[in-house]
Amino acid sequence: MRSLRDGLFEGQVAMVTGGGTGLGFEVSRQLLELGAKAVVVASRSSEHHARILAEAERLGRGRVESVVLDVREPDRVDETVRAVAERHGGLDVMINNAAGNFVAPSLRLKPKAWRAVIDIALSGTFYGCQAAGRVMARSGNGGSIVNIAATYAWTGMPGVVHSAAAKAGVVAVTRTLAVEWAPLRIRVNAVAPGPFHSDGAAQNLWPDEEAKAALLATIPTGSFASVSEVAESVLFLASRAAPSMTGEVVVHDGGQWLGKGMGRSR
Ligand code: NAP
Repeated sequence: MRSLRDGLFEGQVAMVTGGGTGLGFEVSRQLLELGAKAVVVASRSSEHHARILAEAERLGRGRVESVVLDVREPDRVDETVRAVAERHGGLDVMINNAAGNFVAPSLRLKPKAWRAVIDIALSGTFYGCQAAGRVMARSGNGGSIVNIAATYAWTGMPGVVHSAAAKAGVVAVTRTLAVEWAPLRIRVNAVAPGPFHSDGAAQNLWPDEEAKAALLATIPTGSFASVSEVAESVLFLASRAAPSMTGEVVVHDGGQWLGKGMGRSR
């Protein structure tokens, strides 16, 4: 069931990091359905963009641009966002969705692995905000930024200290920039999902049925959020339908974090 109205992003330009897979794919797909004129998907592998390019062709509306970008490189992020705004006469929406994660006990976590996750999920999100904020401020029209956090930003989660620390930082970045940039008419919000299915998450976080069942048992509603539901919240926050929402973090987790964070079964 779709809750966002047709034409919500009519004529708008959006950029989605990690826009070729999982949640990023679904956000990009819905942007096209809702009338965006251009959706720029940016990540390290152009192979990951084939599906969204094919989807744009199938839908026959809007345009997808595939950009190879590593969000850990601030100068490249800045250049890319500036070039997008120049090509399209502005940037209305920036979705900082790229992240990496894997389970590793903290006592054995290598500095390189810690840095990789912090660099992508936290620094990459900040670089994306900063680059988008610069072009949105310069245009005088403002804009809207949505970052992707996770509910373990505030509960913590054994086995993913790197990602939990990064996502806590993403919440702090979101709230700080929301206030700092409000006079520039730039809204900054976040969505914090609990577990939802994506190939990346399934592979790295619940690689077998036993791990998935254990995780499901921690969710009061007994099910994962759907990726389309999470994408709709991302797009509601990004849209003109939420003009006074800024610094907000919307949770989609079936009550998991209220239930206790990690430990209790239903
Ligand atoms: P996913 O499909 O694995 O998406 C991650 C995306 O990030 C990929 O498209 C990947 O593309 C891109 N990426 C990774 N490193 C990058 C880099 N250095 N530079 C640019 N792009 C990079 O995972 P997902 O589950 O949809 O996750 C989407 C977001 O939701 C993430 O922020 C994740 O932390 C968050 N989240 C997910 C869950 C869950 O249960 N699935 C729960 C809470 C939060 P390339 O490989 O082409 O670079």
